[in-house]
Amino acid sequence: MDHFLYKDGQLHAEDVPMSDIATSVGTPFYCYSAATLTRHFTLFKEALEPMPSLVCYAVKANSNVAVLKLLGDLGAGMDVVSIGEYLRAKAAGVPGERIVFSGVGKTPAEMRMALDGGIRQFNVESEPELEALSIVAASMGAEAPITLRVNPDVDAGTHEKISTGRKEDKFGVPISRAREIYARAAKLPGIKVVGIDMHIGSQLTDLAPFEAAYTKMAELTRALRADGHQITRLDLGGGLGIPYTRSNEAPPLPTDYGAMVKRVLGDLDCEIEIEPGRLIAGNAGMLVTQVIYRKQAEEREFLIVDAAMNDLIRPAMYGAHHDILPVTEAEPGVPLSPVDLVGPICESGDTFAKQRAMPPVKAGELVAFRSAGAYGAVMASEYNSRLLVPEVLVQGDHFAVIRQRPTYDEMIARDSIPAWL
Ligand SMILES: *Cc1c(COP(=O)(O)O)cnc(C)c1O
Repeated sequence: MDHFLYKDGQLHAEDVPMSDIATSVGTPFYCYSAATLTRHFTLFKEALEPMPSLVCYAVKANSNVAVLKLLGDLGAGMDVVSIGEYLRAKAAGVPGERIVFSGVGKTPAEMRMALDGGIRQFNVESEPELEALSIVAASMGAEAPITLRVNPDVDAGTHEKISTGRKEDKFGVPISRAREIYARAAKLPGIKVVGIDMHIGSQLTDLAPFEAAYTKMAELTRALRADGHQITRLDLGGGLGIPYTRSNEAPPLPTDYGAMVKRVLGDLDCEIEIEPGRLIAGNAGMLVTQVIYRKQAEEREFLIVDAAMNDLIRPAMYGAHHDILPVTEAEPGVPLSPVDLVGPICESGDTFAKQRAMPPVKAGELVAFRSAGAYGAVMASEYNSRLLVPEVLVQGDHFAVIRQRPTYDEMIARDSIPAWL
C-alpha cells in the first residue's frame, strides 16, 4: 500500500494534489510520501521482531538527506557503498554506530574517514580489501569491526545487471574459501570479526533464493564458531522486490520474509541486519512529468513528455516497467489506446513505455510514473544538458522541496575554461 491516490478525480500524494506541486515546482519532479517511507520501514522492523535487529536502509536507492533523516529518526541504520553516502547519512544525523559500509572498491582514504567518524562495521568483500583495512586501522591505532561478504553461489533469478550472488559475479568471497579467510582475518592487526554478510541481488520476487543463501549462512555460522570466531551479527543484505505493476505481480511481503528469516536463522542467537533499499523507497515515490506533444506517426502515436532517460533511467537500462497514471483521473469507461511514451533526448533508448494502453491525455496535461522512489533520482544525470530533476517530500497536507532544480547558470558555472584557451 502507498499513499498516492485519486481524490475528487485528482492524483494526490497523501493530502496534496500533484497538480499543486507541479504549479509550484515545475515539471518534471520526483515526489516522495513520508507516510509510505515510514510504513515500509516499520513493516520490516516489525517483521523481524522479536529477534534483535537493525534495519540498515540501503542509501543508494534514494540518498536524499531528507529521506535519510526521516528514516534515521525512526531508528534506521544505513548501508552505504561510498564515503559520499556515509557523509550523507552523517549529515542526516545518523550516528556512525548505525552505519555499515558495503562495496567492492572501498579505498584506504574512505576507510580512514569512516574509522575516524565512527562505523558499525565494514562488510569486507575481498582479501586485498581485508589487508588494506588492517593496514589503515592499525596505523590509526583503531580496530575495524568486520563481516566478510560471502558469495553463496545462489542464482537470485533476477535481472542480469542486479544479480550479485552467483560465483561469476564480482561480489564477496566464495563461500568455499570463507573459513580460510576468516582465519586470516583473526590474525590481522586492527581487524575484529563480528559477523557474516551476504547480498544476493535486487528485485527478488521469490523467497527461495534467500532461503537457500541463509541456510548456507547458518551452516557457516556454526562452522566459524567451531573455528573459534565470535559471530554475533548476520547481515542478510537487501533485495526484496516490489510490485512494479498493480495488476499481476505479488512479491513476498516483509512479513513473509521475516518469518522465513526467523525459521532459518532464529536459533543462532545473532543480531540480524538487513539492508532493504528498493522496498522502502520504490513505491514511496513518483516521477511527475508534463506531456509536451502528442505526435501521430505513420504506425503509432507518441506522447512526448518533459522527463527523459536522464531523469529516470530504469526503462532504458533494465527494460523496467513503470505504471503510468494521468494526474487527472480518466472518466470511467473512457477507451484506452496504445501510445509510446518517450522523452526529448536524441536517442531511441529514451523510451519509457511502448504501446502502453493509456486514456486520451492531451498536451499540457500531467502524467505520473509509479514506483520511481528507488533508483530514480539517484541515477539521474544532466545528459543533453537537462537540469538535474528536483525532489519533493510530502507529509500530510504539506510538502517541501528537498532538492532544488538548479539554474542553467549554476549548471554551466561548474565547468571552467582553462586560461590557455
Ligand atoms: C543494492 C544493495 C542493497 C539494496 O538492495 P535493494 O534491492 O534495493 O533492497 C543492499 N545491500 C547491498 C550490499 C547492495 O549492494
